Amino acid sequence: MARRRQLYEGKAKILFEGPEPGTLVQYFKDDATAFNAQKKGVITGKGVLNNRISEYLMLRLGEIGIPTHFIRRLNMREQLIREVEIIPLEIVVRNIAAGSLSTRLGIAEGTALPRSIIEYYYKNDQLGDPMVAEEHITAFGWAAPQDLDDIMGLSLRINDFLCGLFLGIGIKLVDFKIEFGRLWENEEMRIVLADEISPDSCRFWDIKTGEKLDKDRFRRDLGKVEEAYQEVARRLGILPEGGPRDLKGPETMQ
Ligand code: UDP
Repeated sequence: MARRRQLYEGKAKILFEGPEPGTLVQYFKDDATAFNAQKKGVITGKGVLNNRISEYLMLRLGEIGIPTHFIRRLNMREQLIREVEIIPLEIVVRNIAAGSLSTRLGIAEGTALPRSIIEYYYKNDQLGDPMVAEEHITAFGWAAPQDLDDIMGLSLRINDFLCGLFLGIGIKLVDFKIEFGRLWENEEMRIVLADEISPDSCRFWDIKTGEKLDKDRFRRDLGKVEEAYQEVARRLGILPEGGPRDLKGPETMQ
């Protein structure tokens, strides 16, 4: 069988042409980068875990009415998705101070924020994804005011839902990054959640120990990176322990 045509290769994923028009295949690699790709490495098995974790979260979000690009998982490393026009913004939602917010504003990591904060970054590797304001986004036409309203509303709903979901398995959702795309159906345009949601793009802290269960283990050389990704999958009940049929539901923590 001829190999599918590759359309794009990113830092952690590859996009291939899908089997039908309007679809793509998203392949999850084990490659990891940090600090605008200045630090590079491999996290063995990450692609398989992120494929599963992102599938799980997109499906759960779909069930509460969040439109997503996800169609179905195809195999260990690939999922079928709807082709969307990616809005060139990284939306970061924060609940607890960490990372660049702590550095930039001098707020100690771990400080609970008075309310959830949404930030926008312009997706541009050459510029190092600079933070931008709504004014820049609408003035430069990256998204219309109505698109931004939708993005903000969806982002807050996603945050509320994911905070609860992770709380239930003993994990604090500190912050996360999501991306949205435009999906055209006939003449109608809808904004849908795209890309992935995984320990690559979220900060997860264990509620009891504060242990980091995300890409910060790689960024900060904390060790046990693979184990952290596996632990997230295990708590979500999607890490097969005795083979692929051995799937339990999420493990509720008291
Ligand atoms: N994030 C991401 N991709 C990026 C930048 C950030 O997925 O290119 C995620 C990151 O994992 C964290 C959140 O967005 O969950 C906020 O990141 P922050 O701005 O603190 O950046 P960092 O500490 O990575 O510089």
